Amino acid sequence: MPSISTNLQAVAARIAAAARAAGGDPGAVKLLAVSKTWPTDAVREAYRAGQRAFGENYVQEAAEKIAALAALDPAPEWHFIGPLQGNKTRIVAALFDWAHSVDRLKIAERLSAQRGDGQPPLQVCLQVNVSGEASKSGVAPNEVAALARRIAVLPRLRLRGLMCIPEPSEDASLLRQRFAVLRQLRDDLVGMGLALDTLSMGMSHDLEAAIAEGATIVRVGTAIFGERHESSATG
Ligand SMILES: *Cc1c(COP(=O)(O)O)cnc(C)c1O
Repeated sequence: MPSISTNLQAVAARIAAAARAAGGDPGAVKLLAVSKTWPTDAVREAYRAGQRAFGENYVQEAAEKIAALAALDPAPEWHFIGPLQGNKTRIVAALFDWAHSVDRLKIAERLSAQRGDGQPPLQVCLQVNVSGEASKSGVAPNEVAALARRIAVLPRLRLRGLMCIPEPSEDASLLRQRFAVLRQLRDDLVGMGLALDTLSMGMSHDLEAAIAEGATIVRVGTAIFGERHESSATG
């Protein structure tokens, strides 16, 4: 099996090629290594290879890894990307730098209230449902503007942009349509005066389509760490 370091180089090359094909700067696309279900040692190996930003879906599992790696300098940057329910906000607010999966005002208010005084603001993205009935999570596109306006003023959050997980598809043009919806929504919000710089979209199998539509963060697990066996993972 190729090593994590080799895989990271291959993913970086895919990102660079996709960014160049889109006429953009490869340095403008940030790679988030999604380490859910993988042990601390796998994260450490990626860190040693130079990777700094990590995505986690399950708060308990993440809390253990974050504690185990607390001494690393520079500190890894931790991004929460999993489903966000009320009983998880306290840990996310305390331990993470980013939360990508905010899709309700109530959750955003809890995160803001629970973020510590001495911490920098939690960087947040609104998760948008770009696939209609094929997906249950995320705010509907026609509700994004109203929600974004209310979240943007919460004191301990900094609204950075939008995130989506389109339904899996082999159809690259369908995927591009989905990602284009997110980009258009972001552009509309910027037009309304919100200072948003982030489009969190694209995973192992569709990062090229996402970068073609302007992704600024791609969230990649399998192509870095290998196939997951998720049944044992819990929240
Ligand atoms: C698991 C996960 C990823 C990574 O998916 P891969 O297909 O393994 O690259 C990205 N984003 C979210 C929200 C995830 O849950």
